[in-house]
Amino acid sequence: MSSKQREPGFSTLCIHGKKHLDKHESDRPIRAVSTPIFQSSTFAFENVAHGAAVFRGEDPSYVYTRLGNPTQTALETELAYLERGEAALALSSGMAAATTAVLTCCRHGEHIVSGDTLYGGTHQLFTQTLPRMGIEVTEVPADDPQNFANAITDKTRLIYLESPANPTLVLTDIGAVAEIAHAKGIPVLVDNTFCTPYLQNPLELGADIVLHSATKYIGGHGDTVAGILVGKQDWIMTARMEILRDVGGCISPFNAWLLLRGLKTLPVRMDRHMESALEVAQFLSYHPKVSEVIYPGLKTHPQHDLAARQQRGFGGMISFMVEGGRAAGEIVMDNVKLCTLAVSLGDVDTLIEHPASMTHSTYGEDELRTVGIDPAMVRLSVGLENVKDIIADLRQALAKC
Ligand code: PLP
Repeated sequence: MSSKQREPGFSTLCIHGKKHLDKHESDRPIRAVSTPIFQSSTFAFENVAHGAAVFRGEDPSYVYTRLGNPTQTALETELAYLERGEAALALSSGMAAATTAVLTCCRHGEHIVSGDTLYGGTHQLFTQTLPRMGIEVTEVPADDPQNFANAITDKTRLIYLESPANPTLVLTDIGAVAEIAHAKGIPVLVDNTFCTPYLQNPLELGADIVLHSATKYIGGHGDTVAGILVGKQDWIMTARMEILRDVGGCISPFNAWLLLRGLKTLPVRMDRHMESALEVAQFLSYHPKVSEVIYPGLKTHPQHDLAARQQRGFGGMISFMVEGGRAAGEIVMDNVKLCTLAVSLGDVDTLIEHPASMTHSTYGEDELRTVGIDPAMVRLSVGLENVKDIIADLRQALAKC
């Protein structure tokens, strides 16, 4: 038999060929300016002993992208830093982040106190899905920290709030709630989606966990669904190795990369969102057909002072009501041409929507009124178009009422 080495077959070369090409490349430094996308689901071990050490948690090598991936790590490192936290966990959506956070903190028979105005999906999780799993949630008006104190029981394991809340823009005094919660050893989670780390750092205000629907301002371009948790190293490790591992809401490396790209322009975009939002809010508040404008940057907002103290800016979200109520609001939403009638927010595009029938349709009619989501409310996410064009579009739509 010939000792000549067999040429690999064509199908083997299709799979392993690149390794031969790479042979002479391995010493060449890469120094990519944009973080590379590690589009790999799995990572090789040196030998069985190495694999076993990784599984025992004694070696930090990557194993499998559900648990970690270099592109995810780059994003997590960046967000932990921006949110002034020890560690972060990137997930497939804001709701995956909420579910992972809740399941990390609570078991069957335990309890959460949350603000009563939440993104409608979170409200659904709290009032429908978690109770089926034996986790009860008490939702309280979030503008008074004492309401959180009054709802805490000996089973409470988490305080959960959005500040500013979607879509009412009600703020919570995060420091005051953290003080109340910490006196009872309970962690506080703040959904910081509306502010982003550019405008607010809940951990510095006393919170323990920060959540983002990174789908919104962090991604910023309406092309990615993703979520982020930031907190203490140990807590993030438990969330990753117990809940993410079992529930599986991992982010794809490509989506992690899109968020890294979005982060590069976050401050520039937020500055413009805010500048335009203030101008649009002022336009709306002087418009005779608009009965109410809710924007924390307006001096008329009841929590303007808290917003100025707690945040480094007022954000790009506005809610408003049109004279004539829900029907009149629908005329505006049906007649905008530049603004897009769509849910989500924080995009370069200006998005307009009706919370009562869309994002917050998980609240019953009575619940909507109790928590202050007027059925006539219109929510506007002010985008990055020329603000004069946004205002002209709203003016022509309001003229149709
Ligand atoms: N938190 C807030 C404030 C939101 O507005 C949303 C979605 O709109 C979520 C969480 C859920 O995020 P996702 O849609 O990325 O799952």
